[in-house]
Amino acid sequence: MDKNQILKEFSADPDRYYKVKLFEEQGFIRKSCTKCNRFFWTLDPSRTLCPDDGVDTYSFIGEPPTTKRFDYTQAWKKVEEFFVKNNHTSVSRYPVVCRWRDDLYFTIASIVDFQRVMGSKVVFEFPANPLVVPQICLRFKDLENVGVTGRHFSSFCMIGQHSIPDNGGYWKDECVDLDFKLLTQQFGIKKEEVVFVEDVWAGGGSFGSSLEYFVRGLELGNAVFTEFQGELGEHTTLDQKIIDMGAGLERFAWITTGTPTAYDCCFGPITNYLMGKIGIDADSEMLRRYFTTIAKNLEIYDDLSEVRKQTIKTTGLTKDQLNRIITPLEGMYLIGDHLRTLIFAITDGALPSNVGGGYNLRMMLRRINGTIDRMNLKLDIDELIDMHIDYLKDTYPELESKRQDVKTILNLESQRYVESKSRMGKMATKLKDKGRVPSVEELITLYESDGITPEYLKEVEVISEIPSSFYAKLSDLHQSDKKKSMEYLSLENIPETDMLFYKDDPMEFEAKVLKIFEKGIVLDRTSFYARGGGQEPDHGTIAGFKVIDVNKHGGVILHELEGGFPSLGDTVSCKVDSIRRANITKNHTSTHILNSSARQVLGSWIWQHSAFKDDDHARLDITHHSSLTDSEVADIEKTANQIIAKDMSVTIENYDRGTAEQKYGFKIYQGGVVPVKSVRIVSIEDFDVEACGGTHVKKTKDIELIKITKTKRIQDGVVRLEFVSGPIAQEYVKQQEIIQTQNKKEFVQKEIKEKTREENKEKTREKIPTFIEKILSEESLESEGINSKGKLCFTADENYDEYFHQNFGKKLVAKDDAAAFCGIFESGPTIRVMIFAGDKSGVNAGKIANEIASILGGFGGGDAKFAQGGGKDTSKKDAAIQKAKSMILG
Ligand SMILES: [Zn+2]
Ligand SMILES: [Zn+2]
Repeated sequence: MDKNQILKEFSADPDRYYKVKLFEEQGFIRKSCTKCNRFFWTLDPSRTLCPDDGVDTYSFIGEPPTTKRFDYTQAWKKVEEFFVKNNHTSVSRYPVVCRWRDDLYFTIASIVDFQRVMGSKVVFEFPANPLVVPQICLRFKDLENVGVTGRHFSSFCMIGQHSIPDNGGYWKDECVDLDFKLLTQQFGIKKEEVVFVEDVWAGGGSFGSSLEYFVRGLELGNAVFTEFQGELGEHTTLDQKIIDMGAGLERFAWITTGTPTAYDCCFGPITNYLMGKIGIDADSEMLRRYFTTIAKNLEIYDDLSEVRKQTIKTTGLTKDQLNRIITPLEGMYLIGDHLRTLIFAITDGALPSNVGGGYNLRMMLRRINGTIDRMNLKLDIDELIDMHIDYLKDTYPELESKRQDVKTILNLESQRYVESKSRMGKMATKLKDKGRVPSVEELITLYESDGITPEYLKEVEVISEIPSSFYAKLSDLHQSDKKKSMEYLSLENIPETDMLFYKDDPMEFEAKVLKIFEKGIVLDRTSFYARGGGQEPDHGTIAGFKVIDVNKHGGVILHELEGGFPSLGDTVSCKVDSIRRANITKNHTSTHILNSSARQVLGSWIWQHSAFKDDDHARLDITHHSSLTDSEVADIEKTANQIIAKDMSVTIENYDRGTAEQKYGFKIYQGGVVPVKSVRIVSIEDFDVEACGGTHVKKTKDIELIKITKTKRIQDGVVRLEFVSGPIAQEYVKQQEIIQTQNKKEFVQKEIKEKTREENKEKTREKIPTFIEKILSEESLESEGINSKGKLCFTADENYDEYFHQNFGKKLVAKDDAAAFCGIFESGPTIRVMIFAGDKSGVNAGKIANEIASILGGFGGGDAKFAQGGGKDTSKKDAAIQKAKSMILG
C-alpha cells in the first residue's frame, strides 16, 4: 500500500483523522512545514518548520527542557506511575526471543507481544485493556549507527501504550490527551515545546492515521490508530480497532538529562566507568556541539561516513580530538549497547551461533571483542555484565536469575573468538593476496564454513562494504527448509475427523469410510494418531488392510493403506497396533523429561530445537553451545530416570492460549508456535510444562527406563540426543551387558595368553648358552622351533623375542665365524627380521634384510655381517618366512 497516498487522503480531511479534542481545548494550530510541507500541530504561533527541519533540533543537549533529571530506570518509573494512575495495567515485558511467532526471531515492537498468527491472519490478544509495557525490542538493521549517532541502539525499551476502544479502553482523544499530559505534567515539559506531526501507518493489510510527538526535534513517541483494512478507497473499518502507541524510553531519559548522547543516561554507571578506564577527558561543550551537529546532519545526509565527516568539519574538531575522544567514545558506547542486548537475548534463551537469529548475537559479541582489541582495552566482561544487571534489575528483575548463565555463554563465545582470530587473520591475508573482492556467495561460504564474518573482512580491508544482499541471502538459506509443503487434497465437504486419540483413545473401534483418495481413506472417526509434532503415525489395520501412514490435512485425517481399500460408505473395524503406539508414547513423554533434565543439568539456554519419536528409537535436538561430555550425558540420564522413579503424574489440560501464556510463560512453546486458540498443555507435575499435541503416558513410571544411546553436535548451537525408553531401553541395557561381558572375557583371555608368552620368553633367554653349544656341535633344535643346517640356523617361532634374537645371534657368530643366524619376529605392528653372519659363513646379512623387508613392504639396512629390517604388511609374513629360511639355509 502506498503510504504517501493514504497520508495525502487523510491530511485532506484533518478534522476527521487528526483533530483530537486536546487540540481544540488547548488551541493547537495546524501548520504546514515551509520546508517540507508536512502538516504538524503546535501551540507556538511563530513556528513555521516541522520538528525535523526546525532550528531548535536537538537543542536539549546540554540544556534540557525539564527541571528534573531522570535516568533510564527513573524515567520508566515515572511513565509507569503515570499510566497506572490513569487506569492502565502495567504488564511485564515479553521475551525478546519471539517464541510465539515463527516469522520473527526477535521481538521488534511492543505490539508484537500481543499478535498471534492464525493461518495468514494476525489476531490480537491483550492480557489487559488498556495496558502499558516496557518492551525490550531488538533491531539489527542499523548496527553501524550504534555508538556513532548518539541515539541508535541495537535494543531499546519501547514504552507500549495499547488500547482497544471497547471493553474499557479508549480511542484517539484520550490517547493523545494522555500522551500530552505524560510529557507536560509528569515530565514537566512546557506545552509549547510539544509538536504533533501528521503521519500514517500501514502494514499486514491494515492501516490508520498516526500522530508522532516531538520535543525539540526528538521524536519521543508515535501513536498509531489502526482502524482500516483493505486497499485505500475500498477499505472497511476493522472489527477490532487498536491503539499502538510506541515511545522510546531511552529518549525520555535523554530529553530530561540533556547528555551529549542517549547512551550517557541509559547504561547506568557503565559509561562513567568506561570513560575512567579509557581515560577520556572530554570537554562537555565540545561534545554538545559535536553530537548536536551529528543529529542535524543525520537528517541531511544518507551516508553515515558523510554525516561524520561533515560534523567533524563544521565543529572544527582536530584529528587529535577525534582519535583521543570521539573514536574511543564510539567504541565505548558500542560495547555498552551490544552487551545490554546480549544480556537480554541470552536471559531469554537465545544462543550466539552462525544460524538464524543467533547470527546477530555472535556478530555483536565479535564487534565487542573487536572493539576491545582495537582500543587495546583491559576489560573484564563479567564486571560489565554485573554493572548492567545491577542497574537494570529494578525494572527487569528476571535478569538476576540468569546472571551466571549470561556470563558462561559470553565467556565461552569470547574464548572462541580468540581461538579463531589467528585463523581468520591467515585467511584474510590469503584473500588479500588474491587481489579480487569475494562475491556474496563466497562471503557466505567463508562465514558458514570458516566463521569469518563480513564485518571482520571489512575491518581488515578485504572488502570495502558489506554487500546489501548478504544478510538476506544468508537468512534465506536458513529458512528454506522451515516449511514443507503439504500435498494438496480437495477436502471440501468432508467433515473434520473425530479424533478419538484425544478422547478415550480405543485401540479397536468401528468407523465409516467417508472418502477414498488415491493416497488413502478418510474415516468419520479415528484412533490412529496422525504424524505430527515429531511423533510418528500409528500403524495397524483398517478392514484387514495394513495402515502404513497417517497424516493430518487441516482437521481431516488421511489413512494410507497397503493392498487395497474398503468400499465407500462401509462401516469398517479398525485396529491400532497398540504395542507400537505404547512405545512411541513412552518415547514422547521421555522427550519432555529429557528436555527439562538437560535444562536442569546444562543451563537455562536449553530449548527443544526439534524432536522425533518412533517406536524403537527417538531423538531430541536441544540448543546448546558445545558437545556434551560423558559426565553431562550421564547426569542428564540420571536426572531423567529420577523423574521416572518419582512416578510423577502426567496431566493434559486445554487452555485458552492467552491464559496458558500468562500462567506458564513462553517456555511452553518448546515444540514451536501453536497456531490455534486453544492450547493443549501437557504437564509432568511442576517438572515440565509444554504445549503439545502428542500422546503421553499417565504416570512417569510407565516409561520404565530412559537410556541415551548417542549424542552428537549436529550444527552450531544444536546437540542431538538419541535415546530409547521402555522395553526397548531394557533390551538395550541387556545387549550392552552381553557386549560388556563378552569384552571382559576376551580381555581376560588375551591377558592370560600374553602372560604365558612372556613367561616362555623369559625361559628361552636362559636357554641361549645351551642352544649355541648345540648349533655349533650341529645338533638338531627342531623341537625348540629352530631350523638349522650345519652351523646356519633360522627361527620364526613366537616364543622368541627381540632380546633373544639379538643375544643369541650375536653370541653365536662371536664364538664361531662359520655360523650364521636369521630370526623373524613381530614387534608392535611391524614384522622384523634380524641377521647375524660370521665371516666364513657364506651368508650376506644385508642382502637378506633388504629382500625380506621389501616383501613386507618396508626397508632393510646393515652390512654383510649384521643387518635388520621389516615392514607392516602382515599378510606377507608367511612368504617372508619361507624366503628368509631358503636364503639362509639354502
Ligand atoms: Zn519539514
Ligand atoms: Zn511433545
